[in-house]
Amino acid sequence: MKYEALPRTGQESAMSDRRGAHAVLAFAMVAGAAWLLAAPLAASLVVGVGAAFFTWIAGAASGEPAALVPAPVVDLPDRTQEVIDAVDDALLIIERQRITYANHAARRLFGAERVEGDYRLALRHPVAADLIASDRETGDPVEIAGLGDADRRWVMSVRHVEGGAKLVTLRDRTDSWIAERMRVDFVANASHELRTPLATILGFIETLNEGRAVEDTAIRQRFLGIMMGEAKRMQQLVDDLISLSRIEADRFSVPQTPLALGPVIEEVAGVIRSGLREGGDRIELAIESAPEVRADRVQIGQLLHNLIGNAIKYGRPATPIRVALDQAQGRVRLRITDQGEGISPEHLPRLTERFYRVDAGRSRSVGGTGLGLAIVKHIAERHRATLDIESKVGVGTTVTVTFPVISRESLS
Ligand code: ADP
Repeated sequence: MKYEALPRTGQESAMSDRRGAHAVLAFAMVAGAAWLLAAPLAASLVVGVGAAFFTWIAGAASGEPAALVPAPVVDLPDRTQEVIDAVDDALLIIERQRITYANHAARRLFGAERVEGDYRLALRHPVAADLIASDRETGDPVEIAGLGDADRRWVMSVRHVEGGAKLVTLRDRTDSWIAERMRVDFVANASHELRTPLATILGFIETLNEGRAVEDTAIRQRFLGIMMGEAKRMQQLVDDLISLSRIEADRFSVPQTPLALGPVIEEVAGVIRSGLREGGDRIELAIESAPEVRADRVQIGQLLHNLIGNAIKYGRPATPIRVALDQAQGRVRLRITDQGEGISPEHLPRLTERFYRVDAGRSRSVGGTGLGLAIVKHIAERHRATLDIESKVGVGTTVTVTFPVISRESLS
């Protein structure tokens, strides 16, 4: 253990100052007395210095020795390596074409065995290798595709560090790139979905303007009927887009109002039955007693509309549609089952994507927008509920939404 003197306290400083004053006083008195006794000046000064010296020593002998205490431990372990390894970005130091240092993320990306030699072999990416080889620093990071996995996106920067080495930083931007691509795809899909009915409506308006169709009542009625259908399709699409963006905007605020789902199911089923020209009695309800859940009544109504609507659209005509509510493993379970064409397994993971349809023509012919299940997914997420779709081709589909119940503590 290292020891060092503590800094002088105020009391010690005062003592030292006093000893100095005593020594000066002794010098003045003894040298003055010797000179007054007619001693030569040099001799007077010598005896004065001697007196001052002895006075100082005496003072020192009577004083306390300086305290020694353990010094605080200052040799902390060097954690630089640990910190660099904890950085999410891949970091490489390259000197004379060889990788001399790779952090944990870089070793994971390129493989531990490859990050020790020539950087071109480790990276296997011509654009990235050229950037490192060129002697310029990257002012702005450069976007790189296909390092590691083919569909990942990176931003890369190269900086010169001491001793002619280069520090290469690679930041994974795959997630934001996917989000951006989804946004662009969404706008393109929405525009495309709106453009088709709009083109139909414009076409019929032109034909009606041409004259013959205006005079022929039957043709005019038919055209107007088609235009009405297309306009309703556009309206449905715009309504679904607005719902989706509202639900997405609210996704972080979990609904707080306790709601019994049974009465909402009965109400929605009633509305759908009355809207069906025939086959309203296909909808069978099996509502068991279940605890209330925290829910947004309007959104639960929309979720039921979409799921029962799909069961009607894709179920075989005249087959029953069963809407069941019960309690399972301490949660409230809602199930909608149809006997229809079913969905083959490869489509199941993508059904909740916006505008994803198994058969686009079939969906449009029954008035689908391709947004119904995306809306259901977002409503379920907002309610912290899980969504599960099971289906067997040729047999039918069951969609299950399972809600958490309100805990006792939160009720009290
Ligand atoms: P859509 O408006 O096209 O019905 P959804 O988002 O509600 O859009 O559903 C996406 C696709 O999933 C539908 O186009 C359809 O192919 C399929 N689908 C949804 N529900 C069912 C179901 N009950 N039976 C069979 N296929 C379904």
